[in-house]
Amino acid sequence: MEPAPQPSSRRVAVVGAGLAGATCAQALAAAGCTVQVLDKARGPGGRLATRRLAWTGPDGQPRTARVDHGAPGFAAADAGFRAFLQGLGGGAAVAAWTPQAAPGSRAVRPAGAWQLPVPDMPTLCRGLLGGLPARWSFTVQRLAREGGAWRIEGVSEAGPELLEGGFDAVVLALPPAQAAPLLAPHRPDWAQQAAQAPMQPCWTLMGVTSRPSQPLDWQVLRPQGGPLSWLHRDDLRPGRGAAVDEAHWVAHARPAWSREHLEQPPEWVLPRLRAAVDEALGGLLGEPPAWRHAVVHRWRYALPQPAGTPARRQAWWDARTGLGACGDFLGGVGAEGAWLSAQALLEAMTAPARAV
Ligand SMILES: Cc1cc2nc3c(=O)[nH]c(=O)nc-3n(C[C@H](O)[C@H](O)[C@H](O)COP(=O)(O)OP(=O)(O)OC[C@H]3O[C@@H](n4cnc5c(N)ncnc54)[C@H](O)[C@@H]3O)c2cc1C
Repeated sequence: MEPAPQPSSRRVAVVGAGLAGATCAQALAAAGCTVQVLDKARGPGGRLATRRLAWTGPDGQPRTARVDHGAPGFAAADAGFRAFLQGLGGGAAVAAWTPQAAPGSRAVRPAGAWQLPVPDMPTLCRGLLGGLPARWSFTVQRLAREGGAWRIEGVSEAGPELLEGGFDAVVLALPPAQAAPLLAPHRPDWAQQAAQAPMQPCWTLMGVTSRPSQPLDWQVLRPQGGPLSWLHRDDLRPGRGAAVDEAHWVAHARPAWSREHLEQPPEWVLPRLRAAVDEALGGLLGEPPAWRHAVVHRWRYALPQPAGTPARRQAWWDARTGLGACGDFLGGVGAEGAWLSAQALLEAMTAPARAV
């Protein structure tokens, strides 16, 4: 049996820089590990995501806005998670946001204050990672175990790459469908569970309209029927840039609608979601505001199912080989579940004899 290296002597690769991975990377570095972060995206945050929109205003001038097109915020019921958010350094800060629901809307759950990283969603993970070594646009494709250490094969913009230097441990902080093929050669039991973990897809529309004819005293609309599950006015939220003569919207389609139309092209989805927003806003405002710009994004893996699963401390850790996995699919629905799962993995990694 290979001896489990002490945390302070470990070289650890953290694959995935969403909340679970960034939390692990920061804590492992603080414990003395040499950490290398790898993510296929161009920056940190994962599903805590903000997108830059660019369009031409009615005055013919170029305009830009940033909208949160992944999680619109998250709960923090766990006292440890709340303490973590309050103690954030490195430029990361979180505001309280209590979404006001539109008249006739389905209820916003959970009720009460949500946590909203400011000024954008990825700032939370960016602050956690600080100056840790990170490779962006690097997709991990295969983990190989050789001579008691991990070797990582991936692909970057430059092509296929083999990361030099063995890693004592690898943390996979990925949605389950993306973790499964990496786990399969080493822990087929986990790979099978990950492959079967149900995730809800979500088609999301981000848009800019003229300013509504009347001031809104709500930010969230959850229609009773139709394709939309959620519509929020992004520029009215804490820390977001107020639009001058426009309104910035984010709409999420229902899981069933998103699943049914998952393979449709964006040009098919866009007019349908825009029409659903028009119907929802027209019902409240008399007439919908005029569109100036809109795009859609497909989240194949937005949220674990079933919604409403309580967050819990759960992760996978194989102390013999130094392979671990965490994320919201293990910790329960949402960002809080991702963080709790990261905590479970960190506890297991610093007590290597104990498995979770
Ligand atoms: C539309 C939408 C609405 C949501 N609403 C809410 C909500 O209301 N409340 C709430 O709490 N949560 C919500 N969530 C979920 C929340 O965002 C997630 O639970 C949480 O952010 C998951 O964090 P994570 O670190 O587990 O995974 P992720 O944030 O998904 O991070 C995984 C990272 O791994 C990277 N990656 C994947 N595969 C590879 C690979 N092979 N190689 C390298 N990198 C890879 C990805 O690029 C990503 O950065 C929502 C999410 C979406 C998309």
